[in-house]
Amino acid sequence: TDPQLIRNFCIVAHIDHGKSTLADRLIEKAKVVDERFYHAQMTDNMDIERERGITIKSQAVTIPYVAADGKRYLLNFVDTPGHVDFTYEVSRAIASCEGALLLVDAAQGVESQTLSNMYLALEHNLEILPVINKIDLPAADIPGTLKQIEHDLGLDPDLAVPVSAKQGTGIDELFEAIVAKIPAPTGSAEDPLSALIFDSHYDPYRGVIIHIRVFTGTIRPGETILFMNSKTEYKVEETGIFILKLVPSKELAAGDVGYIIAGIKTIEDVRVGDTITDADDPIAGPLPGFKEVKPVVFSSIYPMDTNEYDELREALEKLKLNDASLTWEKDSSIALGHGFRCGFLGLLHLEVVQERLEREFDQAVIFTAPSVAYKIHLRTGEEMMCDNPASYPDEGKIESSEEPYIRASIITPSQYLGNIMSLCVEKRGIQTNMQYLDQKRVEIVYEMPLAEVLFDFYDRLKSVSRGYASFDYDVIGFKPTDLCKIDILINSKPVDALSQLSFRGNAYDKARHVCEQLREEITRQQFKIAIQGAIGSQVIARETVNALRKDVLAKCYGGDISRKRKLLEKQKEGKKRMKMVGDVELPQSAFLAVLKTK
Ligand code: GDP
Ligand code: MG
Repeated sequence: TDPQLIRNFCIVAHIDHGKSTLADRLIEKAKVVDERFYHAQMTDNMDIERERGITIKSQAVTIPYVAADGKRYLLNFVDTPGHVDFTYEVSRAIASCEGALLLVDAAQGVESQTLSNMYLALEHNLEILPVINKIDLPAADIPGTLKQIEHDLGLDPDLAVPVSAKQGTGIDELFEAIVAKIPAPTGSAEDPLSALIFDSHYDPYRGVIIHIRVFTGTIRPGETILFMNSKTEYKVEETGIFILKLVPSKELAAGDVGYIIAGIKTIEDVRVGDTITDADDPIAGPLPGFKEVKPVVFSSIYPMDTNEYDELREALEKLKLNDASLTWEKDSSIALGHGFRCGFLGLLHLEVVQERLEREFDQAVIFTAPSVAYKIHLRTGEEMMCDNPASYPDEGKIESSEEPYIRASIITPSQYLGNIMSLCVEKRGIQTNMQYLDQKRVEIVYEMPLAEVLFDFYDRLKSVSRGYASFDYDVIGFKPTDLCKIDILINSKPVDALSQLSFRGNAYDKARHVCEQLREEITRQQFKIAIQGAIGSQVIARETVNALRKDVLAKCYGGDISRKRKLLEKQKEGKKRMKMVGDVELPQSAFLAVLKTK
């Protein structure tokens, strides 16, 4: 295709402002899918995305569009996730585009991630096209939203396109605006090859599939390509584009977004962010790519069955192809054997990895209590980083410790300000700024420990603001803290995999909470089971599981038969996944109990 007829853009917005719905509508209008096969959430193709109604992966799609000027354009666009955990996915999508549609919900207005996504797009010099969505809602305030687009975002309100992604209103106007306002790609197909790997995935039949954006040059089957960072060469077997499925093409040229298959055997060779060039005529240096993400939460993963360690490693490698932000190294536990210490971008990311391992790779796994990485100053003058309770030094050796802090920006209607400020204080936050965006909306900025925000902050914020407050954060560095290690003992034996690091002031509550959760999760066995929480030799919480059968149906209060059946099946399922720790059987769910909030 002539690059003049290509438009590459991503769809960014705060969560729930309608990105995936708009992506559906664009696909539907382009009639690339037979109506019989059309379904909602076309771009959310993982089961877990459909069930939760959220986008986790950025998804690239190519659709043809015949514009009012009579020309046939190819639109390559990427639907992106909105949750703060997945900002990395957004920045990868942005690096492969010339423009961005910035959606603003006409009833909600500009929110925290509207701003942060706009800054991301500006950093990469994208042309931003503001789109006002959900104009069909009775609460839609188009003039107010236009004002916010001008005042809060500093964008030209005359460019804004009002649409209803749900009802399909304004979509034709939007297509025309995309063609008119988003710049065509500029690279030349005659120059040496440079292409950015912005994603990849593993297909059980075809092997590794690499998603690329070609900036200059042309890539054809049969040619030998060089991966500039991993310094490996492969022969291209197939090139193609994503019209929802893989559609082979005879080449990919400057401006194109598509995939290549190159018989890749060593999965580690494929690194998202790497540059592909022609092995015989390489470019001087790699493309700028995008910044590496640093994991902020760590947890260890163990196979339920110790013999499945190698299988788990393979599954992690394949998952890493499709989730470049996942990191891991080897770890081991007395209770659970060999496993992996993994780094995640947040708790939602951890949950997603857990579910994907189970569903896509059929791995039964145990995750240990998540932790942030602390900085510990030893009496010897040495300094160490510690994210794993197993490597936490003896208290006697520790001079002082520091924990990571974030700067949280919260935008809320002013009536919830009081609730939100109390919540932030409870989470050890220190207010650093407050500003009224207009008469009704306030932005407040807090510095808070990352560990406090990871757990239930997001849900609590939503509930104290009736869903109206939005939140975004950046990690800013370390501040002094008072750290301790909570051990959990089952029948007097410490279970290393249940230990966690905690701010000392929260330790009593946490230990009690974990013991209570464990009491719920552990099925009654032939003998009485004592569960204790301790700091060093001091016991700070205690629960007992009596030796009796646990009646799961008691919670159902009669009534719904199908619910009862489900519960029984669930219990059966849970029972299959037991881990012997000493002489006590712990269900898989017990290890996640520490995550559950009150
Ligand atoms: P995303 O998180 O930005 O991908 O948002 P989704 O596309 O998942 O949409 C979030 C919710 O808003 C869903 O319940 C959609 O049905 C709803 N929604 C999206 N667009 C519109 C719209 O134009 N009008 C109305 N009334 N609802 C919409
Ligand atoms: Mg979505």
